[in-house]
Amino acid sequence: MPTTPKLSERPRILVVGGGYLGFYVAKNLQKKVKVHGGVVTLVDPLPYMTYQPFLPEVMSGSIEPRHITVPHSRHLRDTELLQGKVTKIDHASKTATVEGVDGVEFAVPYQDVVVAAGAITKTFPIPGLAQAGIGVKRVEEAIFLRDHVQERIQFADNTADEEARKRALRFIVVGGGFNGVETISELQDAARLAAERSNNITPADLDFQLVEAMPKIMPEIKAETAEWVVEHLRSRGINVRLQTSLGDATDKHLKLTSMANDDTKGQVIDEFDVDTLIWTAGVQANPMVRNTDFTVEPRGRLVVDASLHALDAEGKVIEGAWSAGDVAAVPDLSGKGLPDNTCVPNAQHAVRQAKRLAKNVYAARYGVGKVTDYKHEPLGAVAGLGYGKGVAKIIKFPLKGFLAWAAHRGYHGLAMPTWERKFRVFGGWFNQLISGRDVWGVRKVQTPHADFIEAATPKPKPAESK
Ligand SMILES: Cc1cc2nc3c(=O)[nH]c(=O)nc-3n(C[C@H](O)[C@H](O)[C@H](O)COP(=O)(O)OP(=O)(O)OC[C@H]3O[C@@H](n4cnc5c(N)ncnc54)[C@H](O)[C@@H]3O)c2cc1C
Repeated sequence: MPTTPKLSERPRILVVGGGYLGFYVAKNLQKKVKVHGGVVTLVDPLPYMTYQPFLPEVMSGSIEPRHITVPHSRHLRDTELLQGKVTKIDHASKTATVEGVDGVEFAVPYQDVVVAAGAITKTFPIPGLAQAGIGVKRVEEAIFLRDHVQERIQFADNTADEEARKRALRFIVVGGGFNGVETISELQDAARLAAERSNNITPADLDFQLVEAMPKIMPEIKAETAEWVVEHLRSRGINVRLQTSLGDATDKHLKLTSMANDDTKGQVIDEFDVDTLIWTAGVQANPMVRNTDFTVEPRGRLVVDASLHALDAEGKVIEGAWSAGDVAAVPDLSGKGLPDNTCVPNAQHAVRQAKRLAKNVYAARYGVGKVTDYKHEPLGAVAGLGYGKGVAKIIKFPLKGFLAWAAHRGYHGLAMPTWERKFRVFGGWFNQLISGRDVWGVRKVQTPHADFIEAATPKPKPAESK
C-alpha cells in the first residue's frame, strides 16, 4: 500500500525543482533557515541536478555521465528532500500538491515557495517527431546517444546491406543554437575517431547534417563568428543546412522543407531514411506553472520582478512567492538580454539568480539583510566544438579554435557545482590526456535483461537420437 512521506512540521521554504537554480537556493538557505527553526524542502522527480552544458561532452565520451550530476542527498544534508513532481501550487492556501514516486499525491504546506522547475524541450507538431526523435536535456539522453552512435558505426562496419549502412551512418541534428552546434560537433568528433578505428568505413562515410530554419546559427554570437563556425563545421564534413526545416519524420523517413525566401519556400527539398534524429530546436518554460495561481506571460514563463518576487496580474508583489531560472521571465537590468528585456535562459544567470534569490527570501522572511534587485552583466558565451576546438565570445572579444576550447573547459569545469564534482570532471580530462580519448559505447544498456532472459528461458529438449 503506497504511503505518503512524513513531512517536517517546521515552517517551510519549499523549493520546486532541484536543478541549477533550486539546488543552489537550497544549498545557500538550508543551514540559515534551520537556525531560525524552519526547514528548506526541495521537491524534484530526480535525486540529482544535471549540469546540462556538459551533455555534449558526455555524448563524445569526454566526461563520465555520472560526473555531471550532483546528488542532492550528498550535498543538501540540511534540506528535507522529497522525490516527486509538483503538479499544482495553490498559493492562496500556501499548499503545493506533489505526485510521489509511487504515483500517490500528497499536499505540502509552505510559508514561502521558490519555483525553480526550469524548462522542457520545445517541439512543434511535426508528424512522427515524437517517435523518431530524441532531445538533449537529460543525462540519460546523452548516455543513449553516446552508445547509440557508436553502436550504429559498429553496425555499419559489419553490414553488407548498402541502404542500411547509409541509414546507420546518417545523423541529423535539428536546431542550430549552441546546444545543436555543440551536440553535432562533439558527436561527429567522436564518430570520426570510431570510423578511423573501424575496418570497413572511413570518416568520409559519415553523414552528419545540421538543420537550421534561420539563415544564421548560434544567435548569441556575432554574424561573422557564426559564419566562421559554419565554415569550420563544413570543413569537417558536416552538412550545415540553413533556412531548412524538418517537415515530416513519420517512420524515420525525414522530409526537409525549404525556409528560404524564394520560390522554393515550403517545398520539400530532400528526403531520406535515418536511424538517428536529434532535436535541439529550443526550450520552453516548464508547463507546470500553468497549474498554479501565479501570473504566466504569453511565452509561458512565470512573471517576476527584478528582485525575483512573483507578481500578480496587476504587477503587485505576491508575498512569499519567488522564481527565476529558465521557468521565469526575469527582467534583465543590464539591457543585454532578450529582445523583451528579460534574461537569456542559461546557467550563467541561473547560478547568480540563485544566490540573489536565496538572500532575498532570507531577508524577506527573517529580516536579515535586504531585498535587492538582480543584475548581471553577461560575460559572453563559450562552446566546445569537439576535442581541442571551440568558439567563444568573452565580454566583447571573439575567440576561435584551441584557445576558445580551453576557455570552454576552464569556465565550465569551474562552474560545475561542488568541488567534489569539479575534481571528478577535471580528473577525467587529465586521465584522457594520459590514456587517450575513450569514445567507446557500451552495448545493451537499454536492454540489459535480454541475455539473462534468453539464458533463463526453458528451451525445448533436443530430440533424442534413436
Ligand atoms: C544541452 C544544453 C547545453 C547548455 N549549455 C549551456 C551553456 O553552455 N552555458 C549556459 O550558461 N547554459 C547552458 N545551458 C542552459 C542551462 O543548463 C539552463 O539555463 C539551466 O540549467 C537553468 O537552470 P534551472 O534551475 O532554471 O533549470 P534546470 O537546471 O533545468 O532544473 C529544473 C529542475 O526542475 C525539476 N522539475 C521539473 N519539473 C518539475 C516538477 N513538476 N516538480 C518538481 N521539480 C521539477 C527538473 O527535474 C530539474 O531538476 C544548456 C542547456 C542544455 C540543455
